[in-house]
Amino acid sequence: MHGRAFGTPMAFGLILRGNSGNSEFVGERHVNYVTGRPAYRSVLVRHKIPKVCRLCRTADARVLAVHHIDENRLNNQVKNLTWLCHNCHHLVHRYEHEKERLMATIV
Ligand SMILES: [Zn+2]
Ligand SMILES: [Zn+2]
Repeated sequence: MHGRAFGTPMAFGLILRGNSGNSEFVGERHVNYVTGRPAYRSVLVRHKIPKVCRLCRTADARVLAVHHIDENRLNNQVKNLTWLCHNCHHLVHRYEHEKERLMATIV
């Protein structure tokens, strides 16, 4: 037997690459879940903003999410945040007309 070297290191490193490149995905709610740090929620709660959907006025906490009015998720000023239910939230992100409707409730 000639000492053959077993245990040659293989390129396992490839598998372990982080995949944090999904931030293009639209939706604060999504990010919220991923980081587990609901920063904007606490902003709204701290300012005692009533937990109701800005558009349809549902007060069902199970469907309420925080929307960034200027769509900049880094702008966590209270005036940039509002509660929206999942339904209205989706519409606001998808349809310009719904966004205008939301804006009209704010100014
Ligand atoms: Zn709604
Ligand atoms: Zn949003």
